[in-house]
Amino acid sequence: MQNESVDVLIIGAGPSGIVAAAHLYNQGHKVKIIEKSKFPRFVIGESLLPRCMDHFEEVGLLDCLKAKHFEVKSGARFLSNDVVCNFDFSQKHTKGWDWTWQVPRADFDNALATELINKGVDINFEQEVTNVVFNADGSSLTTIKTETEENHFINAKFIIDSSGYGRVLPRLLGLDKPSSIPTHSSIFTHVKDIKRPEGKEGTLITFDVIDKDTWFWVIPFSNGITSIGFVGENSLFEGYEGSTTQVMNNMLKLSNYYYDRFSDLNYEFKPVHIKNYSKAVTKLYGKGFALTGNSAEFLDPVFSSGVTFATESGLLAAKLISKELNGECVNWETDYANYISEGVTVFSSYVKEWYTGNLQTLFFHRPENLEVKKQICAVLAGYVWDKSNPFVKKHNRIIASMAHLINMQKETSTK
Ligand code: FAD
Repeated sequence: MQNESVDVLIIGAGPSGIVAAAHLYNQGHKVKIIEKSKFPRFVIGESLLPRCMDHFEEVGLLDCLKAKHFEVKSGARFLSNDVVCNFDFSQKHTKGWDWTWQVPRADFDNALATELINKGVDINFEQEVTNVVFNADGSSLTTIKTETEENHFINAKFIIDSSGYGRVLPRLLGLDKPSSIPTHSSIFTHVKDIKRPEGKEGTLITFDVIDKDTWFWVIPFSNGITSIGFVGENSLFEGYEGSTTQVMNNMLKLSNYYYDRFSDLNYEFKPVHIKNYSKAVTKLYGKGFALTGNSAEFLDPVFSSGVTFATESGLLAAKLISKELNGECVNWETDYANYISEGVTVFSSYVKEWYTGNLQTLFFHRPENLEVKKQICAVLAGYVWDKSNPFVKKHNRIIASMAHLINMQKETSTK
């Protein structure tokens, strides 16, 4: 039996845990990451938002990513029948990054972890956190299952749970609560994109809207592989029979635009079907711990907000813990929970209004209102805390009101 002590123990080496660890290490704290998998490992979540570039830059992890030459993402295209809605991140209300990347996460996460190890951070791979016992002062004793099956114990002043869908502390402490997002499923895989067209068409990240509840993603990577996936109501998937490969083959017929490009390609791995992926928790922090990234909350893939929330929450939790370790007072309710919830609530309105169809009405209405488009574009870039943007400030009513006006105009013009 081994025992060691650290200032901060981080569960999971995804983007959330990595950014948190980088900040704490830069501030001189003793930090350790425990990661269940062997890297590189596959994880879904391949389309990033410009906002997360701020986080990687702040903790000194941008250069190692630039060196990988991932495919640059400078906007996103939404298709609905013949109508195309292109968002360009350089045309947005809020100042900030106007590009990011679309990435195979195995390579991306591995690049981040390798850089952190090179800097001197301790990451234990293929070890699993199985239990955490908290003391009255918030310090804790964590049990870790190692490859040799011999348990290893770590004392920590603070724990950051960045375990993604592992959701270690929400499970151990009973913090899960039902998500307010409608239940959807997804099926996805990777293909060698041998019929990729030349130029921008080949590399554009696209969301092909099949109907109000169903859409198809196409995320081309710089290595010639493209990620493809469908999202739809759980009931849609119940209508398809057979293996996930057969389901994917049949679902591809839903996309008129992409059927020829992807229909007869081999899949790089058996398509994965995930049901009910939206998650929520009753609280984001407690004495001696903080939940970050997917371990805390996941809404829906439609606006690619997952990794950005993971890095936003990971970095903020690390900053607050660093303050506390330095003897400063932290108000976790206002400085962490309220701030994170504000951003989640804005995105949550967008996800809900996507599936009511109201946001799709705004995206595909012609002629476009360029000012409105810039304001929505800032949200889609991840700048969801900028209250000077009416589409942030009035997120809970502005989309529905504008869609209502557009629908009334349509009705009047057809009378
Ligand atoms: P992760 O990246 O999941 O990392 C968590 C790590 O913790 C893992 O490496 C895991 O092995 C480790 N772990 C788990 N349990 C334990 C344990 N007990 N002990 C030790 N280690 C443990 N997001 C986007 O930004 N863009 C997208 O396009 C996008 N598409 C998505 C599509 C679908 C269908 C779904 C379901 C999600 C999508 N997401 C997307 C969300 C994205 O996958 C996550 O938000 C993101 O990966 C969260 O990062 P993280 O660091 O919190 O967790």
